[in-house]
Amino acid sequence: MPGLGELRNARIDKPATASPGDRRMDLNTRIAQFEKMAADDPNNELGHFSLGRAYLEAQRFEEAAAALKRALDVNPQLSKAYDLLGEALERAGQADLAIEVLTRGVTVADERGDIKARDAMIDRLRAAGADVPPLRAAAAARGGGAGGTAAGAAGGMAGPAGGQTVEGFQCSRCGRPSGKHEKPPFKGAVGQKIMDHVCVSCFREWVMMGTKVINELGLVMANPRDQATYDSYMFEFLQLEQ
Ligand SMILES: [Zn+2]
Repeated sequence: MPGLGELRNARIDKPATASPGDRRMDLNTRIAQFEKMAADDPNNELGHFSLGRAYLEAQRFEEAAAALKRALDVNPQLSKAYDLLGEALERAGQADLAIEVLTRGVTVADERGDIKARDAMIDRLRAAGADVPPLRAAAAARGGGAGGTAAGAAGGMAGPAGGQTVEGFQCSRCGRPSGKHEKPPFKGAVGQKIMDHVCVSCFREWVMMGTKVINELGLVMANPRDQATYDSYMFEFLQLEQ
């Protein structure tokens, strides 16, 4: 009978060694979970967004497009959703609509300073031979973030929403080079990973979203399986490698 620690390690090691069959089952399990989440709380963009992403992975392009459109209905600022919706529409053969969505997405991402999503969409537009809309935030982003708060660090420079600007750091979710945590937000390897790869502002967004996930899925955090479910949503939201 393995201890809980071993079970947890087994779970973490599994993706690297899983056969394609296992991975497909895992994807279908995830789809079922996201379908439930999207249906249980239609006003939670994460359910629709994660479902759209999973459908895309399963090459169910039309369903992916529908779910991602719903995510954007709930939150039109979700820049990564425009990128994925553009991809879903392209692959569903709706090239004109894809260009329309990506053009709007570039502007939204640009205004929010979500450099990573913006640049991915610019690449898609260029590959499709479409025009790239003018960028407004480029100059401001280089200037170090207007509208920052005074809540920044003693020590390092304050980024737009706290945290420090450290050479070589780039947030895995928004792509900003600033806002690195000064210390891990919680103990352990995952806390360290978040410090290394996620900005303070994106992690704050996750904390709010994570509370919704716990409530909607009825997760009991003392239960290792529920903890693993919570972690998988967190990694998805923060765009960290599992
Ligand atoms: Zn970020």
